[in-house]
Amino acid sequence: MEGHSEKSPMELLKHHYDETELVCPDCGYEDEDGSWSSETDGREIHYEHECPSCGALREHTLTLNGE
Ligand SMILES: [Zn+2]
Repeated sequence: MEGHSEKSPMELLKHHYDETELVCPDCGYEDEDGSWSSETDGREIHYEHECPSCGALREHTLTLNGE
């Protein structure tokens, strides 16, 4: 098997959120140094980001078994 440095879907998605979804929709604060935290139980990935300005919590949940 050829296995280069493939990134897992989890990492790619977290990177996506880190790049594009750090502006708070409530107050417009851009958390440039922030990042989404992620945790998984093997079936779902749960992403979370809390706005440091107004405290708004945003969440994404991704189901892994694509069905
Ligand atoms: Zn905010």
